Amino acid sequence: MISLEDFASQWKMPVAPMMAVHRVYPFVLSRHFAGLIRTPEDPLWRQVVPDPRELDESDPVGLRDPLGEERRSPVPNLVHRYPDRVLWIVTDACAVHCRFCTRKRRWTHPVPLHDDLIREALHYIRKTPAIHDVILSGGDPLMLPLELLEELMAKVREIPHVRLLRLGTRVPFADPVRITPTVARRLAAYGPLYMNIHVNHPWEISEESREACRLLADAGIPLGSQTVLLKGINDSAPVLSSLFTELLTLRVRPYYLLQMDLMQGTRHFRTPLAAGAELMAALRNRISGLAIPQFVVDLPQGLGKVPITASAVERVDADRVILQNFAGHATAYPLEPEERGRLRHILGLG
Ligand SMILES: *Cc1c(COP(=O)(O)O)cnc(C)c1O
Ligand code: SF4
Repeated sequence: MISLEDFASQWKMPVAPMMAVHRVYPFVLSRHFAGLIRTPEDPLWRQVVPDPRELDESDPVGLRDPLGEERRSPVPNLVHRYPDRVLWIVTDACAVHCRFCTRKRRWTHPVPLHDDLIREALHYIRKTPAIHDVILSGGDPLMLPLELLEELMAKVREIPHVRLLRLGTRVPFADPVRITPTVARRLAAYGPLYMNIHVNHPWEISEESREACRLLADAGIPLGSQTVLLKGINDSAPVLSSLFTELLTLRVRPYYLLQMDLMQGTRHFRTPLAAGAELMAALRNRISGLAIPQFVVDLPQGLGKVPITASAVERVDADRVILQNFAGHATAYPLEPEERGRLRHILGLG
């Protein structure tokens, strides 16, 4: 980790404005990620360097807990939003502090996982047979000591109705040297384990992160990505196409492109909902279908993720629907007589 003083002096920047933000939302940056920054204000810099706009509390739609996670936690740190899945916040530590983080309120008010909380969370999962999928999240679970993470995974694995384990992390790109052959092999032992990796910009892909992904994929861990759509950082079709197609070569399958949550003090990162939908339409069919994630918005109050897609439907007639291809060329597809109403309904056309 690099200190804010060292970082500022390395770039010959005044430290005071950053320090004021750091006192409220601490700065954390791995040496690896710091080394990927090319110039001040570049797409990597803006993700991790404190900005005075974070202290702006005038955003009328900004919230402290934008996903209502605290309300949806039957046990502290265990978010149960969908019937068959739980998200377990197992640490608040990360390899970098993303300035747009939805859980940044926890950086100065962490809820450390102690034995009682572990026991309560496991008890809740055990007595809720509908839970088939446990997502280890944070913070970043790969910041935990490996033995502790293995103990948690082993205990979850003992619960017969849990079929899948997932792990959300930014470490393979933010601090890839943490992924050693031993880490990859030991994590894979608790499979089926799906890993979802947070990555936002093609410049985050380094030789070291390629190697980390290779170790994880070779160990048999299926890899997916989560990308936050960030204003002025990755909100362009060339940047996203390059990121998503490059990820496929690392055997990372793009999973979600996420609309920024309505987190207080992150308005400067937020793009209009329409921008994400337009970007997805611009990528559709122009790059491999495998490289295309779903664009989703996580609804306020913890109501869940909703996909936003540009419809290719031009209109629905009695016996045919007029669809547009990626180049804007319209053509008809036949409909059965009783289909029209159903199709209009599912498309939200009334
Ligand atoms: C995103 C999320 C999940 C997982 O959703 P999927 O669509 O299955 O990936 C589960 N629980 C919570 C609280 C989430 O935020
Ligand atoms: S890696 Fe995830 S949890 Fe950690 S600071 Fe970034 S967005 Fe927040």
